[in-house]
Formats: sequence, structure tokens, C-alpha cells
Amino acid sequence: MAATSNTNPDTAAVTAPEPRVTNNFLRDVIAEDVRTKKYGDATIQTRFPPEPNGYLHIGHAKAICIDFGLADEFGGKTNLRFDDTNPEKEETEYVESIKTDVRWLGFDWERLCYASDYFGQLYEWALKLIKDGKAYVDDLSADEIRQHRGTLTEPGKESPYRNRSIDENLDLFQRMKAGEFPDGSRVLRAKIDMASPNLNMRDPVMYRILHAAHHRTGDEWCIYPMYDYAHGQSDSIENVTHSMCTLEFADHQPLYRWYIEQLGIFPSQQIEFDRLNLTYTMLSKRKLLQLVREGRVNGWDDPRMPTISGIRRRGFTPEAIRAFCADIGASRTNGTTDVELLEHFQRDDLNRRAARAMAVLHPLKVVIDNYPEGQSEYVEVANNPEDPNAGMRQVPFGREIYIEQDDFREVPPPKYYRLSPGKEVRLRNAYFVTAHSVVKDGTGNVTEVHCTYDPLSRGGNSPDGRKVKSTMHWVSSAHAIEAEIRLYDKLFSKPDPFDFPEGGDLFDNLNPNSLEILTGVKLEPSLASAKVGDRYQFERVGYFCLDTDSTAEKLVFNRTLPLKDTWAKIEKKAGG
Ligand code: ATP
Ligand code: MG
Repeated sequence: MAATSNTNPDTAAVTAPEPRVTNNFLRDVIAEDVRTKKYGDATIQTRFPPEPNGYLHIGHAKAICIDFGLADEFGGKTNLRFDDTNPEKEETEYVESIKTDVRWLGFDWERLCYASDYFGQLYEWALKLIKDGKAYVDDLSADEIRQHRGTLTEPGKESPYRNRSIDENLDLFQRMKAGEFPDGSRVLRAKIDMASPNLNMRDPVMYRILHAAHHRTGDEWCIYPMYDYAHGQSDSIENVTHSMCTLEFADHQPLYRWYIEQLGIFPSQQIEFDRLNLTYTMLSKRKLLQLVREGRVNGWDDPRMPTISGIRRRGFTPEAIRAFCADIGASRTNGTTDVELLEHFQRDDLNRRAARAMAVLHPLKVVIDNYPEGQSEYVEVANNPEDPNAGMRQVPFGREIYIEQDDFREVPPPKYYRLSPGKEVRLRNAYFVTAHSVVKDGTGNVTEVHCTYDPLSRGGNSPDGRKVKSTMHWVSSAHAIEAEIRLYDKLFSKPDPFDFPEGGDLFDNLNPNSLEILTGVKLEPSLASAKVGDRYQFERVGYFCLDTDSTAEKLVFNRTLPLKDTWAKIEKKAGG
């Protein structure tokens, strides 16, 4: 199903899909609710509720695929709602980046909402809870509130202000709103149960005083609702039927329900699923911000970052990310997914869709002595052998070409089938060549290989059926264009970036070799017309895409992924 069909015009008819065993229990829950008509004939309504305090990452992509994808499957709708209850950390830049990223992933929201849209309604509801004797103004400091809170094994202590009269509470709360009191001097708390085994139910704070400008409401408010007070009510206002969030909110669910029940409003239900954790990847927004602020990466969209903007710039596709998210599904227990699985889905997608091209990353010059000087020709090459509709292109060939340094050995080790003196190989789509001699520089490095070619092997096969063991890519030196290539490796060198010794630091686990820049890379000339974001398979090398830093004078390609997972292979070897 197209991920973009979230806006389904047919909102009235909600039909239960066939029951089936899935890798996503949330789907089963929704299917059951539809079957039992838990919400009558109402449309399935979900929301994706990011806090605009950073850029979205691959973990959010999972939540987005769940929120938008499942609503879509059931003919429902999804709102994008910014959870902007914390004026100090939130910025418009983040709001814009989040909208861009959600759209790029292939989804569109029914309504664009902000928790701040509901500040007025939330305030009215707070007044109602006060009038019902369910909320009170507390003058204890934040520290004192913490001390009164108790522990998992000991009940909390009631605040001396807990039994203020309703009138006094109303008066104080209205004056909090009017700006009469300094930050931190008072809070509004729900009056629930200081002895509850669930710490979230021990008279949680609903409002705090904060004289701070908000990115949308400006100076209108100097009291701000806490996440727990805002979230469920915002869901209810939007008639959210299934409010899906990650497992760390499970302990908050009783409170989520308590507010909704006390207010007698639309019964949105919260359901928790497992957070995405990926090996070698760190998905804490706070820590990602720190990486950016400390200049350890080049911004939020550094292609090594696990942000949506980072992996987009690196060349990942929304199709691959959605396929990955569909594959991992959702469960009720947290786990860790191998980052190689994400990479597998990305290679799979690019293998089918990326145009092929030839690029020589570490060039070694080859001179074909029996090829006429000053002559060149074009060989015809398939743009993508996996896709017959991708067409053909003409690639120039001549007397001097570049091959990879790794593709030649003067003294070949055992089982080395590539070019070496006396050995014949195929130049892809061109000719068979045999190496004869080398030219070296003063330090003994091979700078040039001299070969002869077989003119009858044009196109890559000899008429006498001679076999060669190796086929190599190449670029004609007279026609080559040059580029910079950025090779990326994992940002962290440990499977669990948080695995560091006492006194250590997460950033001690940063991989010092996560970025390698190659200059003077030789490309076939067709790549001169590449546009930013265009994706290629450089044959035998990997997947690449043209970076935003590219200019007409200087092409810059990012390596999205190498062809095979060399890292896993190296590790396997190291581990025996
Ligand atoms: P962080 O802990 O990195 O600051 P967050 O959970 O505070 O992230 P939000 O902006 O509040 O970030 O997240 C919006 C939604 O995305 C929430 O519903 C949250 O549960 C979900 N989400 C965040 N991180 C992940 C993750 N790693 N896997 C799945 N869902 C996630
Ligand atoms: Mg959050």
C-alpha cells in the first residue's frame, strides 16, 4: 500500500481486515478494536507527537511508520502534533526539519497541531480539577517536592499545602497565570495519592511557572503544562483512538487515564511499544545535540548521524527505511536490532534502482601499448542490469585508463586473480588485457602498468571462448572527471555506544575513522551531469550519492554503503 495515502476520503466505512498473525502487536490491537467497535464507527485516529527539541532520527522513523502506517492500513488518519510544552528547548528550526522529514519518509498528516494550541483548554480543565478538589497549588520548592516523593519502597509524604481550600487554590492558580509569582515558587499538582506504588501517581506536577517566551505563544503564558498533563488531553481533543508511544511511558499510563477519566473527555488509549535500538548507533536526542554542539560531527545532517536528515544526505531512501520498519514491526519488550539489517534493506533497494557507473577511487594508470595512439571509442553499457528500462549509455575507452590500485599486484599473492604481469583480465564491457611490465617511482611504487589488449574481445568476450578469472572496472584517463569522495564508517566503534568503563564517556567510543576523504577520484564522464541526491552504484565499489556540498567545479560524492558488509567480515575474522 502506498504510504502516502494516509488521507483516505472514505472516512465513514471502517472495515476489519482479516485477522492475521503479524510481527506488530499494535496492528492486532487495532484490528480487535475495530472488530469489537470499541470506538463505534469512528475513524481510527493516531498522532505522531515529536517534541521540537532536535532533529528526528531513525528511531522516530519507526514511530512514524507505526503511527501513519497503521492508521493508513485501517483507513484512519494521523495528526502531526508538536509537543511544544517546554519553551526553553524548542525552536522553529526543529519544527521545520521535522515536517520535512515526515514528508520525505512518504507520509502526510491529516492536521498539523501543536500542544500549545490547547494551552487555553488545558488551563480551563485545570480550573475544573481545582474546583472538583482534584488539584492544588503547592508552595514547596522542586527539591522539597522530590524529598516528599518517597521511593519505590516507601510512600511519599503529603505536602503541607495539600489541603488548601478550593477558593485559595483557584485564586493562587489564577495569579500564577497572571505572572504574580517568580519561576519555581509554586506549582499546580494533581491530588491523587502520595502512597501510590506508582510514583507517577504521587500528586504529579501539572503546571510550573516559567517566564519564558514560547516559539508560538510568545509571552502569552508564564505557566506551562507538564508533558503528562498535556499529552493525554491533547490526544483526547483530537479524538485520538490509539496513542502509541514507547515503553518508557508504560508507568505513565495510569496517570494518562486518570486525567481523562476525571475530566470525562474522549477516551483516547495509550499503547506502548518497543523503542528502536540499533547496534553501533546512539539515538538520544540530547546526546545527538551534544555531538552537534561540540563539533564532533558536521551538523545534524552529517551523513554519519542517525538522523533522518543525515541518512537522507548519505543516500538512504525512504523506501528502504519503510521496508526496514515493516520488517522489525513492534513488540512489547525492548531489544536491539543489528544496524546491518537496516543496511541490508538499503542495499536491496539501491541494487534494484541505482544507476551503475564506473569510478576509480585509488587510481593506477594503465597504458595499452598496442592500442593506437590518439584514438578512442565508445562502448555501450547497461545503466542497470537489474532494470531493463534503465537504458544504455556510451562510455569512452582509450589507450590510457585508470584501474584501482588494489586490482594490480606486481607479485600476486596466492588466489589473486586480478591483474599481474602475464595475467589476462577483462575490462568491464570493453576488452581483455594482459599486463607485461611496470613503471616505478623513486621509492619503488608502481606508477604505471603496461598492457596489450585483444582487439577481438570487444564487448568483453573473446571469439575463441578464452576464459578470464577477473573483470575490472576502469575509467578512460583522457575523458575522466575528478571528484572528492567521502567514505563513511560507523560513528561509534562499539555495538553499544554506552558501553564504557567507569569514569569514561560515551564519546570515548566514537570511531576515529568514521570519515575518510578521497580526492582525485576518477569518474566516467557521464557523472558530470549528476544532480544533488542522485544515487549510483559505482561498480564493484559501493553505493554513492551526490552530496549537497557539490558545485559545478567540484563534485562530492558520499558513500552510502560499500557493496558488501566488509565490517561484519572483518569482525568475524577478528573474533575467529
Ligand atoms: P529522545 O529520548 O531521543 O529525546 P523522545 O522520545 O523524547 O526522544 P520525542 O520527540 O518525544 O522524542 O518522540 C516522538 C515520538 O517518537 C514518541 O512517541 C516516541 O515514543 C517516539 N520515539 C522516540 N524515540 C524512539 C525510538 N528510538 N524508537 C521508537 N520510537 C521512538
Ligand atoms: Mg519525549
